[in-house]
Amino acid sequence: MPPDMPFKPALIVVDMQNDFCPPDGSLAVPGGREIVPLINELLASPMFEVKVSTQDWHPSDHISFAANHTAPNNKPFESFIEMKNLVGNRPEQTMMQRLWPVHCVQGTRGAEIIDELDVSKVDVNVRKGMDARVEMYSAFSDSFGNMTEGAGGVDLDLASFLHARHITHVYVVGLAGDYCVKDTARGAAKAGFATYVIEDAQRCVDPDPAAWAEVKRVLQQDSVEVVHAQSNEVRRVLQPCGQL
Ligand SMILES: [Zn+2]
Repeated sequence: MPPDMPFKPALIVVDMQNDFCPPDGSLAVPGGREIVPLINELLASPMFEVKVSTQDWHPSDHISFAANHTAPNNKPFESFIEMKNLVGNRPEQTMMQRLWPVHCVQGTRGAEIIDELDVSKVDVNVRKGMDARVEMYSAFSDSFGNMTEGAGGVDLDLASFLHARHITHVYVVGLAGDYCVKDTARGAAKAGFATYVIEDAQRCVDPDPAAWAEVKRVLQQDSVEVVHAQSNEVRRVLQPCGQL
């Protein structure tokens, strides 16, 4: 990157919620709490222009809950259902949606951000997945690409919010690496931000290293850089300017 290119980074901390964390989250991501110290270190950094947290925030009749579908095609983690783009008024557009255990229901303890995360450093929290008819892994749009602010899907148009603050770079961390972190990072890149996923500040639903390798391939294909906590890209947001 040319040294004179503006650098106004934002941090997005994805879905660090009780239901996504061991030991008793309903959709606990293996090792989900191990990443908290690094994320808190990032949250404490004065280098970020904006720090965002996100929350999966579902109504109890959400389409992704296996319990809302009929047997035998209603096994959490295993079953898929056909989801239609009803939000976008294009029902002919469909995709296969994986079913999950009930998780992050609005107003429940499971939907709260975990106590260890230093939310005092967060500037804005985005709630997503509020439209029962559609999945929303990304904080930027639903799975069909609809940005549904005001229509029940999400409570903030995050791309417009970040552009209005002249953000140039977005760093994405949190849970889960293979779903909401992945799609939020792809959404950030699509919105025009130079986007990084910090590899050691995420954990995946599927702990198989081969699965993460495939996620990385998709991210890189969509212009997201996957970086390590020791990389220059991360060091420059953890240390004040001029110390590198
Ligand atoms: Zn969800």
